[in-house]
Amino acid sequence: MSQQLRRIVVVGGGAGGLELATSLGKKLGKQQRAEITLVDAQRTHFWKPLLHEVAAGSLNAFEDELSYLAQAKWNHFHFLPGRMCGLDREKKVITLEPISDEKGLEVVPARELEYDDLVMSVGSTANDFNTPGAKEHCLFLDSRSEAEKIHTTLLNHYLHAQSAKNQPIEEESQELNISVIGAGATGVELSAELHNAAIELARYGLDAIKPNKVNITIIEGGERILPALPLRITSAVHKQLTELGITIRTNLRVSEITEDGLKTADGSFIASDLCIWAAGIKAPEFLKELSGLETNRINQLVVKPTLQVTLDDHIYALGDCASCTLEDRKGQSITIPPRAQAAHQQAELLTKSLCAQAMGGEAMSFTYKDYGSLISLSRFTAIGNLMGAVTGDMMVEGALAKLFYISLYRMHQVALFGRTKTAALVLKDFISKTTRPHLKLH
Ligand SMILES: Cc1cc2nc3c(=O)[nH]c(=O)nc-3n(C[C@H](O)[C@H](O)[C@H](O)COP(=O)(O)OP(=O)(O)OC[C@H]3O[C@@H](n4cnc5c(N)ncnc54)[C@H](O)[C@@H]3O)c2cc1C
Repeated sequence: MSQQLRRIVVVGGGAGGLELATSLGKKLGKQQRAEITLVDAQRTHFWKPLLHEVAAGSLNAFEDELSYLAQAKWNHFHFLPGRMCGLDREKKVITLEPISDEKGLEVVPARELEYDDLVMSVGSTANDFNTPGAKEHCLFLDSRSEAEKIHTTLLNHYLHAQSAKNQPIEEESQELNISVIGAGATGVELSAELHNAAIELARYGLDAIKPNKVNITIIEGGERILPALPLRITSAVHKQLTELGITIRTNLRVSEITEDGLKTADGSFIASDLCIWAAGIKAPEFLKELSGLETNRINQLVVKPTLQVTLDDHIYALGDCASCTLEDRKGQSITIPPRAQAAHQQAELLTKSLCAQAMGGEAMSFTYKDYGSLISLSRFTAIGNLMGAVTGDMMVEGALAKLFYISLYRMHQVALFGRTKTAALVLKDFISKTTRPHLKLH
């Protein structure tokens, strides 16, 4: 009688999960040494660190999305669309919500899926800390559809102003106030992209709102922008943003969002036509009640250095939804940051670890290499630091920084498609840049 293949289920095909499913498919699925299944709530993959470019229109998401079904077919794993909502650890079964169409009609009923090893890689969303009015009046940047909503809303403001251009109307419709809450990498990069979009939109004829009438304000509760980065990078980015005309308000907490703007804890009001919440992160709520697994205050699953969750050796977590604390060489504890770089390294470790276990080996421990951080300020510049054995901790700016910034996405593509296809994609992107507008205008 043939022995049943080991079933490895990866839930969440984002920066980390899709890389993992792809490499496990190639290493185990292809040789029929295990059955790999990827589950995702969406049908296509879009690399999250590009979302601020989609929101501003610098990037058309349709050009960079990847069909999970196709990737599964090419790389010897299965894809199951669906949103995970439950887990039974005793039966080793996960539950997926039913899938409904736009009218609410059920297309696929709720399903159960059995596993031998389960990897949770469901990412995170922004954390609005239950600020009153945030859910109703803010736009978020957690998914492709939300990024596209920001872009459409931005364009609608421009179209409205344009249609009213030659009519005797109030001054304020020729002005646009944008508030970005949170001065982490997401908020900062988004603000620079929006500033670039204001210039480009005027260039393409939507000139009723002049670029200098687009008032972008970044509001940050902490003392400085980019609090996770070294002070010298923060200062350099702060200077650049100020030179672009972006207003930065630090030490300012948002207490409420209204239809017209935001109220702050010091009693002031910032009028806003567009409020974008880009502060904080939290893992999905459903993890809090997932078969009694240990979570932290932002719903992340607490994992051991092997990335196994603390209470179950057959369940792993990686990326933004995992709380992973390690000891560095000096014995000091470091918490792995919620970054694509970390998700990528964890996917690499789990590939090796799950392959070793398929051969009867042990789970391996994760070590994190921080290669530095890079902040892209749209086409204006990029600033950051590189960390490595040769470079040490080196600050970089301009074209070189931009090159390293772009290489992070190219590394993701290499993990998904291999080097040859990635080289072809680089060429395709280069050529298509010459045939399309600088900004998505629809
Ligand atoms: C605008 C922006 C810019 C960023 N820039 C950078 C950067 O420059 N450098 C950097 O290192 N990091 C950056 N980040 C952070 C980076 O995107 C994340 O750290 C990274 O994507 C985390 O990867 P992940 O695999 O954990 O989750 P994700 O990439 O978020 O993927 C999660 C996946 O899980 C799926 N999912 C969620 N819930 C369920 C469910 N219940 N059932 C099934 N599927 C589910 C989602 O559809 C998604 O496909 C940025 C983030 C944003 C928003």
